[in-house]
Amino acid sequence: MPAPKAILLLSGGLDSTILLHHYAKRYRLHALSFDYGQKNRREIYACNQVAAVSADQLESHEWISLPSNAFASSNMLTGSGESAYIPARNLLFISLAANRAAAQNIETILLGLVPTSEHDAPDTRPEFVIAMERALRTGLNKPIRVMAPLYHMRKQDWLRWAKTDRDCWNALRYSYSCYRSWPPCGECNACVARADAFKQIGEADPGLRDT
Ligand SMILES: [Zn+2]
Repeated sequence: MPAPKAILLLSGGLDSTILLHHYAKRYRLHALSFDYGQKNRREIYACNQVAAVSADQLESHEWISLPSNAFASSNMLTGSGESAYIPARNLLFISLAANRAAAQNIETILLGLVPTSEHDAPDTRPEFVIAMERALRTGLNKPIRVMAPLYHMRKQDWLRWAKTDRDCWNALRYSYSCYRSWPPCGECNACVARADAFKQIGEADPGLRDT
């Protein structure tokens, strides 16, 4: 029997890249990415690079382009600041993933969320994921599971797994996490969390190869 299908939200960051490679062994993955006018266009490039080097692990990769005014002005869109939090962004992304899942008779959506700090955006927390699944069960003809399976281990523990998987480690060379710039600034929250995780496992970040 073929593996079940799943929609995977792919940003090209560290976490969704690890999620892709870990769950490609259990699901036939259809990656879904969003261009919502983010000012840091390197994120788009990196996401395409990750998908390209992970082609053997993916059934498909689709971009959804949102109009540049889909989200009200925020730091992330204006490129002026630090926060990655855009209110209701994950709510919209999961809703659009549910549309694709329902249209293609896919029962699972996978999110690359990892536990970090109590300061995380509220729409990255487990209770939000559970609430979204409940809303989709109510609002769709057929239930869809919303899973954030990276929650059960810390970022550095996932990196230890990634080190054992050659394809995943190679894909991490192309992954990109910085909120601000290319080369990565090394100072924003995303850069600090990423650097800390690599430090914890005693490995150099392969994503810094070109810097
Ligand atoms: Zn940065």
